[in-house]
Amino acid sequence: MQPYKTADSGGYIKLDAMENPYSWPPTMVEQWLDRLRECKPNRYPDPQAIALKKVIAQTGKIPPGSKLLLGNGSDEIIQIILMAIARPGAVVLAPEPCFVMYRQITISLGIEYVGIPLKANNFDLDMPAMRSAMRHHNPSVIFLAYPNNPTGNLFAEDDIAEIVTDAEGLVIIDEAYGPFAETSLMPRLPKYPNMLIMRTVSKLGLAGLRLGYLAGGNAWIEQLDKLRLPYNINVLTQSSAEFALLNNAFLDEQTNQIRKDRDELYKWLGALPGITVFPSRANFLLFKSEKRGADEIFHALLNAGILIKNLNASGGFLKNCLRVTVGTPEENKVFLSQLQALHA
Ligand SMILES: *Cc1c(COP(=O)(O)O)cnc(C)c1O
Repeated sequence: MQPYKTADSGGYIKLDAMENPYSWPPTMVEQWLDRLRECKPNRYPDPQAIALKKVIAQTGKIPPGSKLLLGNGSDEIIQIILMAIARPGAVVLAPEPCFVMYRQITISLGIEYVGIPLKANNFDLDMPAMRSAMRHHNPSVIFLAYPNNPTGNLFAEDDIAEIVTDAEGLVIIDEAYGPFAETSLMPRLPKYPNMLIMRTVSKLGLAGLRLGYLAGGNAWIEQLDKLRLPYNINVLTQSSAEFALLNNAFLDEQTNQIRKDRDELYKWLGALPGITVFPSRANFLLFKSEKRGADEIFHALLNAGILIKNLNASGGFLKNCLRVTVGTPEENKVFLSQLQALHA
């Protein structure tokens, strides 16, 4: 296996991991710390995190009747789902490129992974290829990120509906970037018993807490919950996430700002000669340079103290592609001016 590499980011303008660049308003920090004083680190956390689930159900607009499974980040939920279906002959299907942990955890469990390339012109699902792969492999799980990482686009809702309807196995809709997409398949959840929706608070602005959730029918959630380690959401995360989600106005404000800055950054990047930037409904932009190689751009930015993600080694149509997270307006400006200098 290849390790999941994360860059050492000390001292850099960090635009590589889709984090929210903003800290909390001081009054929020004070209230949060007051709350943490009541936490009991000598006791195990609530194994079911009932209070936190209530807040998620309410703020996440989870349809009544749907149940929740919590994970230590959605990474852990991916692991739980895949452990549940791991058996000889099982196949996991996902479009490529997509979030790398689907493949990483699948192969770590000895399960077969099948990746179907997206359409090269617009990163839509290649439906003839998806249909054929579904017929041929009858996958136990299909992962669809909505919006997709690293391409940033939303797949067509009709295509997703067809896949969910035709699939005999589970379809996981990964809405990690939901806060930036201004759309969600959550209202459709009760309609499809084999569809589960996964979200995380990471990209929203709480990456350090490690909290993801899976919403769906009880028949699935109850079984998956048997594989979850009993105290996977620690007491500080339960308390902090509850607090942040109940006071989510400041997070919404930050999200709005990031969306605006994303659209701004998209315009500026698109105006640079030799750069192709792809439309995004997430908090990052995928781009490509016809003038400079991705490796050269990546290292030049690194020398200037800016860390982004170089996707060149992924090959395929990610050759010479880079992914930049939307930062603060100041960070975006520094990034742009360096890129501008390279494309003058
Ligand atoms: C970042 C990301 C995740 C992982 O989120 P965590 O909750 O931080 O583990 C899941 N899916 C996609 C598509 C992502 O980009």
